[in-house]
Amino acid sequence: MPMSDSFKERLFPLLPTVVNHFGTPFHIYDEVGIRETGRLLHEAFAEIDRFREYYAVKALPNPKILTIMREMGFGFDCSSVAELRLCRGIGAVGEELMYTSNNTSATEFIEAAGAGGSILNLDDISLLAKVPALPELICFRYNPGGRRTGNAIIGNPLEAKYGVRHEQIIDAYRQAREGGASRFGIHTMLASNELDYRYMVQTAGMLLDLVRDIGDSLGIRFEFINIGGGLGIPYQPGVNPLDLANMGREITSLFKEFAARQGYQPALYMESGRFMTGPHGVLVATAINRKEIYRTYVGVDASMSALMRPGMYGAYHHIEVLGKGRDEPQEMVDVVGSLCENNDKFAIQRQLPRTVDGDILIIQDTGAHGIAMGFNYNGSLRPKELLLTSSGEVELIRRAERVSDYFATLDFLPDRLTASGMGQAEKHNAG
Ligand SMILES: *Cc1c(COP(=O)(O)O)cnc(C)c1O
Repeated sequence: MPMSDSFKERLFPLLPTVVNHFGTPFHIYDEVGIRETGRLLHEAFAEIDRFREYYAVKALPNPKILTIMREMGFGFDCSSVAELRLCRGIGAVGEELMYTSNNTSATEFIEAAGAGGSILNLDDISLLAKVPALPELICFRYNPGGRRTGNAIIGNPLEAKYGVRHEQIIDAYRQAREGGASRFGIHTMLASNELDYRYMVQTAGMLLDLVRDIGDSLGIRFEFINIGGGLGIPYQPGVNPLDLANMGREITSLFKEFAARQGYQPALYMESGRFMTGPHGVLVATAINRKEIYRTYVGVDASMSALMRPGMYGAYHHIEVLGKGRDEPQEMVDVVGSLCENNDKFAIQRQLPRTVDGDILIIQDTGAHGIAMGFNYNGSLRPKELLLTSSGEVELIRRAERVSDYFATLDFLPDRLTASGMGQAEKHNAG
């Protein structure tokens, strides 16, 4: 099931008025749905001593959404200076923030470790020496390599650029301890849009075994294991959702077994993006052109700059036409944007009710990796974001980009390296 019936029942009757007031295109998110998913997540892991979701900020980096997450007690998983600042801007500090980056720069370390700090999730042993001042709590990202095969989107861990390899992992913690760290966590992320909950159970089991082995060999305890994000959502109708309740039950029993054997229980951290917000957002666009050549094309007033998953991964996003159901005459169409790029399609050869200019299309499951992946190719501007609040109001939570935003980086101080300046540099280098 794509977008929930509940979201649909609350949104669709309002849409003509919302479209009239705000204009299309826009992404609109459902506060009720986001809070409900958050509640289900907490419920699934209620029997574990300490559970925390670190929302993957990259999935939907909007301060209003992040504030809802923070109200639910979530932390934030960040991977850039901008994401850290976004979270600090809504008041998140210290261990509410997890910094998981790859190929981390000095600037990032300064930002992550400074100004209230964050939990540093290091991607390699070599980074220990590059952290300006090693904090007491250190986490490493683990890459199990050939010990586990990944799913299609995230690929094979042996070829993945992330994490510390299995043979280095004990040494990583030994070196961290020698460098002064006294608190430890471990992280991995091996799935993407995975609908089989058993995969996450196996990941938790793998990390608990590892934590036991590292702990036994170094005499340390782990404060947390972080099983990453990657929980899937059903984009296609008729696909079963991930079985969160069973995932919770089975991971909880692994934690209880661990506690019985080891005499303590680490916290369980997760960093879902897609699962938390994916189904709770839709992109609303108006049909503005229709064209019949070798195929029929329905042109809408949004382009892949607002949602690039179909163009980038061939991903399916369910589409409905407001007020037109299955009993309407259907036709086979491509739904397209306006970019000079043939990948700029929201749907390819899709059976939809026959549309006319002015029809409203609801492109579903855009609440994660939707606007966040947007870009400005062809001078395309990203649309606004709205929130359908718990009280049933609709609030603007990001304005649409303007042409002046596109030109903003053309406002700079002149700087020119002259021929004589280059001569100086050459002499310098030769000397
Ligand atoms: C992208 C990412 C996530 C979130 O992935 P989802 O598929 O949205 O759950 C979590 N953690 C890390 C380190 C990531 O890179």
